[in-house]
Amino acid sequence: MVCSYEEHGHSIECTIRLPLDTKDDTDVWLKNFQDASFSAWRVSNNYPHCGKKNTYRVDLHCQHNTCPRSLTADQRKGSKNTKCPSKFYIVVKKRPCADVRGRQRSKDVHITSHPTVVNLKWNHNHEITSADTFRKRDVSDATREKLLELFSAGHSPSSAIDTLKYDLQMENNDEDYLRLSADKATCPDLQYCFRFGEAATTSFITNEQAATISFITNEQVATTPSLVMNRLLPPPSLVMNRLLGKYSRSVSLGTNATLCLLR
Ligand SMILES: [Zn+2]
Repeated sequence: MVCSYEEHGHSIECTIRLPLDTKDDTDVWLKNFQDASFSAWRVSNNYPHCGKKNTYRVDLHCQHNTCPRSLTADQRKGSKNTKCPSKFYIVVKKRPCADVRGRQRSKDVHITSHPTVVNLKWNHNHEITSADTFRKRDVSDATREKLLELFSAGHSPSSAIDTLKYDLQMENNDEDYLRLSADKATCPDLQYCFRFGEAATTSFITNEQAATISFITNEQVATTPSLVMNRLLPPPSLVMNRLLGKYSRSVSLGTNATLCLLR
């Protein structure tokens, strides 16, 4: 359900409501949104005590807005920091109890059916589907699972990558293979595999820890098939469809569309 929507070029500011009740539900939704929109988000703020009316709140920002550790960190060729202003928050509201006469006390008319509020400012100052951006995506859970299987079968990091690439080639046509093999989510670089393999064999590794293992070489950036992947930012209607995920019917946003597009 879209409550408000404004579009300025490739920028979007919107508020949507989702029928989700728990943090776990929103975690799954966020992961699907990240996968579908080719964007990656980092936590800006958690709210352990988020008030009487909410059960969960998190603020997020684009991964291309980092806190550089030194004055020269941004000048490094592999730096992903573009000071991207995109951000959003997710709030899961508590469903209110009805009073003795069965009336709802909340003035929020959507709180019973759609307790979760998502407020998004999609205003990326970098390309979303360029080769360089794809090389900086998070490695997906499915790829991490495959890597763990390969390591436990005795593969080295380099032979594990070769196997991942071979499987991608067998499972996809040439164009998709080029795209997927240049995407870190499906085909991580050698340094990642070394560090992931090391961490996996020495201790239990959480998704959060694995997500922080990232490194990209300049050579790999230079050899990605940019001609195939160097496309422009996705159109806003596509972003909205991915934002709403399975809760969306086909969204068509014209320039006049502003409010309540889905009900
Ligand atoms: Zn961004």
